Amino acid sequence: MTHRLYQGIPGVIDRSASLRANRFCVPAPSASQPLKFAAADDKLREECGVAAIYNHPGAARQIYLSLYALQHRGQESAGIATADGQHLANIKGMGLVSEIFTDDVLEKLPGQMAIGHTRYSTTGDSALLNAQPIRVESTKGLIAIAHNGNLVNLGGVRARLEREGAYFQTTSDSEIIVQLIAHSTAGTLVDAIADSLAQVEGAFSIVMMTRDRIYAARDPRGFRPLSMGRMKNPDGGETIVFSSESCAFDLLRAEFVRDIEPGELVMVSEDGVTSRQYASGVAQASCIFEHVYFARPDSRIFGRWVQESRDRMGHQLARESGVPADVIVPVPDSGVTAALGYAEEAGIPFRLGLIRNHYVGRTFIEPEQRVRDFGVKLKLNPVRNLLSGQRVVLIDDSIIRGTTSRKIVRMVRGAGAKEVHLRISCPPTVSPCFYGVDTPRRQELIAANQSIEEICRFIEADSLAYLSLDGLLQSVQNQEKAVGYCTACYTGNYPTQWVDVEEILPAEATV
Ligand code: SF4
Repeated sequence: MTHRLYQGIPGVIDRSASLRANRFCVPAPSASQPLKFAAADDKLREECGVAAIYNHPGAARQIYLSLYALQHRGQESAGIATADGQHLANIKGMGLVSEIFTDDVLEKLPGQMAIGHTRYSTTGDSALLNAQPIRVESTKGLIAIAHNGNLVNLGGVRARLEREGAYFQTTSDSEIIVQLIAHSTAGTLVDAIADSLAQVEGAFSIVMMTRDRIYAARDPRGFRPLSMGRMKNPDGGETIVFSSESCAFDLLRAEFVRDIEPGELVMVSEDGVTSRQYASGVAQASCIFEHVYFARPDSRIFGRWVQESRDRMGHQLARESGVPADVIVPVPDSGVTAALGYAEEAGIPFRLGLIRNHYVGRTFIEPEQRVRDFGVKLKLNPVRNLLSGQRVVLIDDSIIRGTTSRKIVRMVRGAGAKEVHLRISCPPTVSPCFYGVDTPRRQELIAANQSIEEICRFIEADSLAYLSLDGLLQSVQNQEKAVGYCTACYTGNYPTQWVDVEEILPAEATV
């Protein structure tokens, strides 16, 4: 699909206002309404996780562990680049971190510094060519970069760079940053990086490496998380680490130091850690969906624990849309923490009534005879003795196309549940994301095209309710320091001026 980028069109989404009221209960219909949505997996996907380390004798192995902890942020490809002060090595592969980086492979990555990347692609194709880190020989020397997020004005910048003679090796937007650095007239590399980052718009949490330095930066709105930690290395010196999420620090036994600030560029060299604010005066717009779904509950991002946010979402959801029930059942794994909060608030027992198979591969052979809802049955199985004869409240974190939710509701009812009420720990998803999350086009988002009553009928639930936007914003707010959040996938109000108009056209306009 060709992405056409236009300057922002405010108010394109006109049906979302009714959805923002977003609380509704109706009796279940006897039959579903057919919708022409095709979905193999009805979850949004994060694009990437990044990590970096400075001054550790086993840098590659430490990055391997970091990427292992960040695997939930991308399972398509992974890469590690290392530097020893003279040379820069880089190995990338398709698949999971543990599949690519065996002992033998890690042996080929010497050095005291490293950056790493795990990826699920949304921009550029999924070939190994676009796996990261990307290593580019530039006028400023050899640079390796790993990037989480999506740039949104890349078309114009890329065309300008090509006119100026840039030759792109990949279709990944991360290379645009490197080419901007290479073409910068700034005198020093750190100035060139700052100058380049100020020219691109969109979401980027990046780590970069030269032969002897590590750089880490977040975009001025701070869409994606990036944290800094430190630890003692085996030689007794201090090691500095960066990671998309703090859960990686736990595996390294590193201490969390702080988040990289929106618009901040940090440099680590033999002179220590230095920092500069390359952009300021832009309102923060950190991705609220990181707290709802993407980030691990044991991570601390945007200044607060994800577990705490999800627990509060569950409490708030119960206050807003409680319903008489016998058991609260999470859709595992991401619905678990919100379900615990809901159960506590409602005073109704929490039960693991759905068991997830964690060993399902990315491909499988279907049985010869077609089995209804086979894909979901492979992943989830009901615990019949917990569900039979019960009024069940199911807690999940999102409904994207609605197809998977319907299969889960059917599964719970098939296990003997008397009633199935679905509660979602965020508002209806009505708009696609342009900032590093793989969202279907608006035509495919069920909440962008159906009322909550219609969705409830489609998924065959006894009732359906979403958390309100106010309730969500309250759940993720910090006591100490207010955080500005992007809520565009629930509101259609994009924090950047550039969006892809084709992706946000309502279904009615294109059918
Ligand atoms: S549009 Fe949604 S998923 Fe994308 S950055 Fe904003 S809140 Fe996050």
